[in-house]
Amino acid sequence: MRRRTISSWIPLAGLIAITVGSHASAWGQEGHQIIGVIAMTRLTPQTRVAIIELLGNDDLATAGLWADQIRGDSKYDWAKPLHYVNAPRNENTIVLERDCAKGECAVGAITRFLAEASDSTKSIEERRDALKFAIHFIGDLHQPLHAGYADDLGGNRIPVIAFGDIKTNLHALWDTVLIRHKIHSKPGGDWRTLANALESEMPPKEVAQWESNLDPLVWGNESLAVTRLIYNDLPADAKVGEAYYQSNLPTISRRLAAGGVRLAAALNKTFANHQPAVKPAVKPAVNKENLDVSPVSP
Ligand SMILES: [Zn+2]
Repeated sequence: MRRRTISSWIPLAGLIAITVGSHASAWGQEGHQIIGVIAMTRLTPQTRVAIIELLGNDDLATAGLWADQIRGDSKYDWAKPLHYVNAPRNENTIVLERDCAKGECAVGAITRFLAEASDSTKSIEERRDALKFAIHFIGDLHQPLHAGYADDLGGNRIPVIAFGDIKTNLHALWDTVLIRHKIHSKPGGDWRTLANALESEMPPKEVAQWESNLDPLVWGNESLAVTRLIYNDLPADAKVGEAYYQSNLPTISRRLAAGGVRLAAALNKTFANHQPAVKPAVKPAVNKENLDVSPVSP
């Protein structure tokens, strides 16, 4: 079922409207920031130039939040279905023709916006928005439940009690609650310290594997596979605690790390032929002899 059939649910009540909105949300803020900061350390000099031209002072951690910040602006309503991809429950893989018609899902959006970000026929404003969308959706697609099922809004309609007293839902559990639990497992921890820890723990073999596959459809299918496990693994009483967190921590860490590595790799590929918009000023001709400051032999 495509999410655009939502309008038929509207009479059911505002509650559903609210959960629909939250399904369109991303990793919690920290997830995007972690992915952005991991990616920043991996950009080529050429990509850095392109990023600075398009984003100015914003780094990837900040720019990755924009697509969530504009969700209240009706001008961008068209982008809401682009934060996720849905597949039928009995299917193991995403089929673009079925699950992403006209490219209207996270998989299609990443391909489209990466291309637009480097398209010199577009205005700087269009390219800037495209880049910010691409950064965000690459993060989203690495969150398992952003490749999920339409009938429960990507887990938003599955109530969960976490760590005894946190009333949440399956989507938000993976978007935010488990990541925050990890962040606060160390005194004074924040998203930057977690990003640094993930960076230092990355197994080189896996990094090479992540970098070698830059097809967003593969990323979506990886997430869908994890999503299937998440549903199988959820306790019948939907209460999750320390044991659940510990057993899923490697998956959470791996998806954040892979998201950061792939964000950098995708941007490096996108801007591989980037020509700086402002050419360096031509230096005045100088007399070569005047530049010779090499020590004089005694
Ligand atoms: Zn999102």
